Amino acid sequence: MKKIALFCIPAHGHTNPMLPVAAELVRRGNVVRFYSFNEFEKKIKAAGAEFVSCDSFLPELTKQEETGLKNVSTTEMTVQDIRITLSMNHFLDKEFKTFLPDVVYTDSVCFWGKLNAWKHHVPMVVSTSTFAFNQLSSEYMKNSPKEMADMILGLPRVSRELKKLEPYGYHVKGVLSLIQSDNHTDSIVYTSQMFQPYAESFSDHYAFVGPSVFSKALPEKEKERPLIYISMGTVINDRPDFYGKCIDALKNLNVDVIISCGNAINREELGTLPDHIQVHSYVDQLAILAKADVFITHCGMNSVSESLYMAAPMVLYPQTGEQYAVAKRVAEIGAGIMLKEDSSEGIRASVQEILNNKTYGNAAAECSADFRACSGAAGAAEFIENAPHSSEGTDIIGELNKANGRFQLLYWLIVIAGINLIGFLVSWKFVWVIGIAAGILSSPIGKAIQKRKYIGMTHSKASSIKPD
Ligand code: UDP
Repeated sequence: MKKIALFCIPAHGHTNPMLPVAAELVRRGNVVRFYSFNEFEKKIKAAGAEFVSCDSFLPELTKQEETGLKNVSTTEMTVQDIRITLSMNHFLDKEFKTFLPDVVYTDSVCFWGKLNAWKHHVPMVVSTSTFAFNQLSSEYMKNSPKEMADMILGLPRVSRELKKLEPYGYHVKGVLSLIQSDNHTDSIVYTSQMFQPYAESFSDHYAFVGPSVFSKALPEKEKERPLIYISMGTVINDRPDFYGKCIDALKNLNVDVIISCGNAINREELGTLPDHIQVHSYVDQLAILAKADVFITHCGMNSVSESLYMAAPMVLYPQTGEQYAVAKRVAEIGAGIMLKEDSSEGIRASVQEILNNKTYGNAAAECSADFRACSGAAGAAEFIENAPHSSEGTDIIGELNKANGRFQLLYWLIVIAGINLIGFLVSWKFVWVIGIAAGILSSPIGKAIQKRKYIGMTHSKASSIKPD
């Protein structure tokens, strides 16, 4: 029996996958204390864990800060994460001294969980509610210019806030060290090795346990006519324009449609609907996906995992860089179509393509079987109970970084020699152009070399375990 402290930010997509794990930890006789927020109290108590409300530590937000959070601004989320950590500092110092947890199980972007585990020297396992992102897998992300501008312009504000942590005993090298997946931190990822991009680049500190769901129910697709389910998740779901287009696209088809639109929109805005289209603010998504033939989704990791678990192929409509990464992987395995044109015609064409072409459903069904073969909540619970873990294998990312270091050294020696040669033999006038061009090229060439080395390393790893 262990005492386990769970921490998460106030978000459904991050809290939901921790709940079946919490329930399993309780079932195995551990004392589980979940530091969370009032809107999740019922679900946490239903999982059998002790609930500790942290609502009083949430800072008062200005209108601008509220809008930033609603739009999932990385800068705003990071700043508020730091502020909550500071306001919880005294409380958590006391909690760690009295509860004396053996292990901390914390969401990957919940700074107060991570920082307090480090500060109080408690073994920590990180809950990664999306893919594990390192320098290789983050290539799957495609941040919009708005997201990029938000991150770059927000850097000075973030670094000012980070400095405030130091006097309280929280030592942080930089914001990346707080959010990026590294090969030394024990981490649980709610997907399979097959679905995780660049899975082999992650060390034994990673447990890919498959989607974290309460249900073991199987897909049940037999019915009179196809069911189309539409949801934009629980965060940026204020999209009456998009629901309107979906309704327009599907109103004359012989299908049933269920839309989950959240609480932010007035359902009357969607007009009078035909009988075969239902709109709800929240539904039992997993139960609907079990029957659904197509899921039109914003590509949140949980929604996509649940969809694949229930063998429902998808029309992919990502809204953030992270969701784009998930969408790209679904399209890659053939279980969905990226929505290129978000007009009614574009939506209808994508839905019909999935309904008429069985390969999408088959790919989703294959993935469902793969997910169901994962260790699930039981595997996650065991991994947490046995933390900290060690890693025997090669640190592939470490090796790739070393290879890049060697390449950069050689590359710049050659560039400097070339510049000197041209300067002495031809002219010094334009050598700066060579310097700039070399600077621009060094990173993509370095990445290409790392990728080749990665393929070489993972192939030799695969062939070394193959029988002769
Ligand atoms: N969800 C649900 N009912 C709904 C809408 C969403 O149960 O009507 C759940 C869904 O099953 C998933 C989570 O909310 O577990 C949404 O998480 P996701 O990562 O997909 O997206 P986010 O809301 O974080 O953008």
